[in-house]
Amino acid sequence: MHRIEIDRFKCKKHTHCIKVSSDIWRMDSQGRPVFVAHSGADSLHIDDSLLESAKKSALVCPEYAIDVKDANGNSVLGIEPDKKEVRTIKAHYDSMKEWVMDSKGFFTIKPFPDEGVIRVRYYNEKHQLSLVIEGKTAIEIYNTIVREKLISRLDHAADIGAELMKAEIAMNTGINYVQDSPLELRK
Ligand code: SF4
Repeated sequence: MHRIEIDRFKCKKHTHCIKVSSDIWRMDSQGRPVFVAHSGADSLHIDDSLLESAKKSALVCPEYAIDVKDANGNSVLGIEPDKKEVRTIKAHYDSMKEWVMDSKGFFTIKPFPDEGVIRVRYYNEKHQLSLVIEGKTAIEIYNTIVREKLISRLDHAADIGAELMKAEIAMNTGINYVQDSPLELRK
């Protein structure tokens, strides 16, 4: 028998836990995760059939708000958050050597703060403007780009995601957005 616990002070309501483990968690009316079996509890005994799902919901939590413990009260998550038990590598990128043009084409991104929208122009493999995507948030635009299959490289998708997030921040804070340049955030 194991016990799953949630620290509600740490929870920031991303709902990752609910998405991966709907057999354990559901969302309450305020967007918080509560146990399916007992919505008012902060901890719950679970049988072995729910153990893997419980662990998964704990491991996806960026706030380390969920723990799963054995009968002796020891965590069974297998890693201690922030302990150096897992290999760490240094990130690096040389745009002059590593950048590769996506065969599906490219995008230009421009926020329009007065209208509250970001417009993305898609130029196809022949470098012809073939689509304009309008949206208010980065997440809805990059999911639309992926759904429409306008991108073929993982590095390009990651770059567009980062650029769109910068455009959203710039639009909502009134700072200037220049594609492929760092945001000029005040210190
Ligand atoms: S993933 Fe963690 S922080 Fe997010 S809702 Fe679940 S418990 Fe809360």
